[in-house]
Amino acid sequence: MGKNPVLAIIGGGASGLVGGIFAKRILRDKGKVIIIERMDRIGKKILATGNGRCNFTNINMSVEDFYGENPYFAQYALNDFGVRDTIEFFEKLGIYPKEEENGKMYPYSGQASSVLDVLRYELQKLGVEIVTDFDVKSVKRTQIGFKIISLSGKSINADRVIVASGGKASPNLGSNGSGFDILRDLGHRVTKVTPALVQLKTEKDIVKGLKGIKFVGNVKMFSDNKFIGEEYGEVLFTDYGLSGPPIFRLSALYAIHKKCSVLLDFIPCLSKKDVFDLLNERKKNLCHLTMESFFTGLFNKRIGNAVARKSGIEKLSFPVSCLNKEIIWDISENIKEFYFDIIGQNGFNNAQVTAGGVCTGEFNDKTMESLKVKGLYACGEVLDIFGNCGGFNLQWAWSSGRLAGKSAAESLIMR
Ligand SMILES: Cc1cc2nc3c(=O)[nH]c(=O)nc-3n(C[C@H](O)[C@H](O)[C@H](O)COP(=O)(O)OP(=O)(O)OC[C@H]3O[C@@H](n4cnc5c(N)ncnc54)[C@H](O)[C@@H]3O)c2cc1C
Repeated sequence: MGKNPVLAIIGGGASGLVGGIFAKRILRDKGKVIIIERMDRIGKKILATGNGRCNFTNINMSVEDFYGENPYFAQYALNDFGVRDTIEFFEKLGIYPKEEENGKMYPYSGQASSVLDVLRYELQKLGVEIVTDFDVKSVKRTQIGFKIISLSGKSINADRVIVASGGKASPNLGSNGSGFDILRDLGHRVTKVTPALVQLKTEKDIVKGLKGIKFVGNVKMFSDNKFIGEEYGEVLFTDYGLSGPPIFRLSALYAIHKKCSVLLDFIPCLSKKDVFDLLNERKKNLCHLTMESFFTGLFNKRIGNAVARKSGIEKLSFPVSCLNKEIIWDISENIKEFYFDIIGQNGFNNAQVTAGGVCTGEFNDKTMESLKVKGLYACGEVLDIFGNCGGFNLQWAWSSGRLAGKSAAESLIMR
């Protein structure tokens, strides 16, 4: 092996940092690992994850939680460094894990910054070099390796390169899609990219009066009238549509389907018939009221007003005593199946991840090495893999980053 071979990792995010750790653990003093980051510091996105608490994995993970042209590309990396390995890795670095609902894992500290801190401490301990404010514009192949060139014309030479630049989601946190251009220039295909894990837009006139209201309920999604998925949790009405964890999870389906609609269930614990019986009972007890007050104590008044309007009751001064069985049945239906057409989603600025990316068919799933350019590797969100909301995207970043770092370092040792 020649003197001091260099492994350069483009991107100091989740996948790049873990890739750097595993690479350096193998290389030790036999080679240099440099993490190149375009922002003024590494790991900005990690700090924003899980609402600042970092949902770093999910104990219920399976490959079924991932999407892309070929989600099974992710299987090897996810098996090779799975949820238990990830928890153990972080535990050894000092992160005491805490399990919350639906298998979501967080650091016990409740601080995403602690996840970034322990990664930084380990990188420092190992002697991984970190170069910030270096915005990579392109990677050129040279006779002996690669030349990494920044927007301002600076360059770094390397024997192996890992592109860990993330996708296009939340560009204010660093990932601006430049990794797609870097890999495209090196001959790789990039599939169509769209925002995912993001708020959904609906017809505005229905949600207009509901802005700011939250409810805990069920949301079913349909594509071309076919059921495609269902999520339970806290939904938030916004001035453009719907937000909240169940909506984020369903937006992963929206990113890959067309002509979507949703049905909101405001009282999932009761069947439609039970709601119908309940409303008949309320009519008997509350016959002195108008529709404006009919739902008080059942759910938010403004949701009640929207349900009444959707059931054909235009005036909220309509007396409860005048409700007949047909109207009560319509109201029951709208409480259980409040219909919205989805007309779009928010953009990359609001999205947590990118759907689509660099074609996984052009990479070796056992090493993350390019099948087109020897010595070039990619990991994390830049590749055409994304996961559901709930810790799955970071798990993909850790697993694929570790595999790319390990493989690139081993190939340097063996050369
Ligand atoms: C608000 C928010 C909350 C989230 N919460 C969670 C959560 O709780 N759990 C979960 O599993 N997932 C969560 N995600 C998703 C998760 O953070 C990402 O999927 C994951 O960080 C992707 O890792 P990555 O290493 O591929 O890319 P990133 O983490 O995006 O890192 C890429 C890095 O590369 C740098 N870079 C990009 N281009 C260049 C270039 N040309 N030159 C040099 N550097 C470059 C970027 O600045 C960035 O630091 C969240 C995302 C967001 C936006």
